[in-house]
Amino acid sequence: MTYNNEYIAAQFSLLSRLMDIHNENSFRSKTYSNAAFVIDKLPVELTDMSLAEITVIKGIGDTVAKKIAEIQASGTLEALQKLANKTPSGIFEMMQIKGLGPKKIATIWKEMEIESLGELLYACHENRLQMYKGFGEKTQQQVIESIEFYFKNQGSYLYAEVESLVDLLQQMFTENFPHNKFSTTGSFRRQDIVITSLEWVTDLSETVLHAFLEERGFRRLNDNSFVHNNQVNISFHFTTSEEFGSKLFTTTGCNEFVKSFESKYGKIMPTENESLIFQKASLPFIHPCRREYSNLDILIGVKELIAPINIKGIIHCHSKWSDGSHSLRQMAESAKSQGFEYLVISDHSQSAFYANGLKPDRIRAQHAEIDELNKELAPFFIFKSIECDILNDGSLDYSDDILSSFDCIIASVHSHLKMTEEKAMTRLLGAIQNKHTTILGHATGRLLLSRQGYPVDHKVLIDACAAHQVAIEINAHPRRLDIDWKWIPYCLEKNVLLSINPDAHHIDGFQDIKYGVLAAQKGGLTSKQNLSSFSLSQFTAFIEQQKIKRNG
Ligand SMILES: [Zn+2]
Ligand SMILES: [Zn+2]
Repeated sequence: MTYNNEYIAAQFSLLSRLMDIHNENSFRSKTYSNAAFVIDKLPVELTDMSLAEITVIKGIGDTVAKKIAEIQASGTLEALQKLANKTPSGIFEMMQIKGLGPKKIATIWKEMEIESLGELLYACHENRLQMYKGFGEKTQQQVIESIEFYFKNQGSYLYAEVESLVDLLQQMFTENFPHNKFSTTGSFRRQDIVITSLEWVTDLSETVLHAFLEERGFRRLNDNSFVHNNQVNISFHFTTSEEFGSKLFTTTGCNEFVKSFESKYGKIMPTENESLIFQKASLPFIHPCRREYSNLDILIGVKELIAPINIKGIIHCHSKWSDGSHSLRQMAESAKSQGFEYLVISDHSQSAFYANGLKPDRIRAQHAEIDELNKELAPFFIFKSIECDILNDGSLDYSDDILSSFDCIIASVHSHLKMTEEKAMTRLLGAIQNKHTTILGHATGRLLLSRQGYPVDHKVLIDACAAHQVAIEINAHPRRLDIDWKWIPYCLEKNVLLSINPDAHHIDGFQDIKYGVLAAQKGGLTSKQNLSSFSLSQFTAFIEQQKIKRNG
């Protein structure tokens, strides 16, 4: 095997960058990055030169020449392998992000304790980067754009990321083929939180559609699948107008759902209109997002799924007091003007130093501001809350008397996320058992497509919330959607309140509520069992009722 100059230069460049990231001898690392530069520009291949010839090249020298020989013999460098073994894969991904040099990556990894691109993206959205030396608003924005680009090339997308493309394509189809039917189906129609492929059912002819798409620059992947500009894959199910409804039915539901439906109500007969299938079985229409289960009884039982319009208050958001982008006044005025009845402001607690968490004196100052704003904005109301860190031992981040000064405590884990299930459960149960805890925030800490979240025993967690009257958040950020919707039925069974919360760090973040609602619909949530659907007077009564527990 011979290695060309380009390959050898890349090895030196990688070695140099890894050394910088690991904060190793900077003189050496500079030598290697220079070598990479020189080798890349050499007019002759190194393989055609003797060691003596290589050594005298300007910018190479003895040490580098020996390393070149090592690469030529083994394909790599021992020093490089050693560093690579100590480097998480997410750090290698960061090295591909424009705007992130080794120094910045070192800060992100060692100081911010971020090891994956997804975590990094989320930290950008929380304005966390700007708090570190060398990171301005511009860098943060550039990092966001490059990471989003990187993710787009990975094949999996958040629901929120493909939504506008779906609208665009649907519009394109209906405008160009007004006499044909087009409907999304499959995982998008089921409102899956992560999407790998968009699917349509259509009665347009295959040849016509293929020609139409190819004309518009769609690349054909296989028989009925296409891709445009390296975005998400798109596939089509072709049918006739007479069988459109039945095709839509069989391609929308999961296999388990369709099978169990057919075994109970007989084989799906061709029909133009999907709702006729339900009518024929004397069933109410089952919302596409619910067609995940084989147990049809659960599906039929739920009458009215929650809708975005049922959200009455903004619970869980951050202002400039901690890591949000807007002042408390701006957040409140915006919520009020959008028709919400109240805002539960929950900035970060004191241990979240990276997020400018609130020390007791700043809590008092914030509460004074809230009191003033409440006079002015009535009947709109701002509740005093905090997103309180669950510390390593499961305790909350303030003393009892400070905790008592809040109307509502959202307890969340933000630090030491790498832990065993045992450790995670000790911390979470500690927080749930604390009489001050009102809501458990983002229960598993997951970031979709980028961070798994710590392991938890969901049933034990939900049982504890039931026992201690703690509500469980459905964090509505499209990258979180945590607790997962699959656990909603068990929460409902245990009579645990859920709460669809935007965790907004920006006024625009209020809109994320929609994604929380879409996910909650999949789990069969109704507005009665959702805390953020409580009206102002209901929410006030809820807070009063919690006081009995807190004073006890
Ligand atoms: Zn949080
Ligand atoms: Zn938060």
